Amino acid sequence: MAKQIMDLSTFGWGRVIVLSSIGTLCCIAVAFAIDSYSLTTGAWRWGESPLNNVIIPLVLAPPFFGYLLGKQRELAIAHRELMIVASTDALTLCLNRRAFMAMVDGFLDRVANRKTERTGALLVIDVDHFKLVNDRFGHDGGDEALKLIVQIIKGSVREYDVVGRIGGEEFSVLLPGVSPDTVGKVAERIRAAVYDTELKLEGESCRLSVSVGGVVFERDASFSELYRFADQRLYAAKRNGRNRVEIIHASSREDQARIH
Ligand code: GH3
Ligand code: MG
Ligand code: MG
Repeated sequence: MAKQIMDLSTFGWGRVIVLSSIGTLCCIAVAFAIDSYSLTTGAWRWGESPLNNVIIPLVLAPPFFGYLLGKQRELAIAHRELMIVASTDALTLCLNRRAFMAMVDGFLDRVANRKTERTGALLVIDVDHFKLVNDRFGHDGGDEALKLIVQIIKGSVREYDVVGRIGGEEFSVLLPGVSPDTVGKVAERIRAAVYDTELKLEGESCRLSVSVGGVVFERDASFSELYRFADQRLYAAKRNGRNRVEIIHASSREDQARIH
């Protein structure tokens, strides 16, 4: 509670208390000004009822401002919760497709205006033969597997890398500011972590694998352009036998020409 009282953001009581106090002081000042100004003579004089000018605003203003600002705080909290629900994939709790795309495009817009840290990578990860998992363990078992895979992906990347679910059993990871040499290692770490984890589904053990396609970028591009590139690599990984990583570097002149 003490933390909430100190919180001056739109979500905290601190803002309600501070703004209600300022509002009350303003009301007292206005009451004094009205009481002290004579409309007939146009002159300022000491007000006739200084006590009333303090007591009436002190009684009326705090509940008024407190109620209004308290409601505004409730709305801000409800809005934040709605935003979280709207951007979260209900099954795996990572970002959903729309929120992930917005996040990536936001990152790409920011780096486009910067001279430094214009590198990054986008990975697209698809679970191999996932239909067989559903066939064997049912849809609920498949859902469990998807949740575990997201945990494995999150555990294989940095805290500020962005993980999203962009399709049924397809995920994507944005690696902001990652050096081109590291991208292959991160993708390989994800692939190996999934393959090395023995999943327990409905009491039975099961081994899954993922194919990973990735694009390394060193200049500005849009999500859809990068996704197209990474998706091409993903399908190359599928064609080449699955459970593998295929990365393209968009740094060569030839590759950049294909992105733009
Ligand atoms: P591939 O290696 O070529 O990717 O084969 P695949 O079987 O993984 O690919 P395919 O596209 O044929 O099948 C994807 C399956 O994923 C089919 C669909 O029922 C299942 N799926 C999609 N979304 C969900 C989900 O939310 N939960 C579960 N349990 N299954 C899902
Ligand atoms: Mg698949
Ligand atoms: Mg798929």
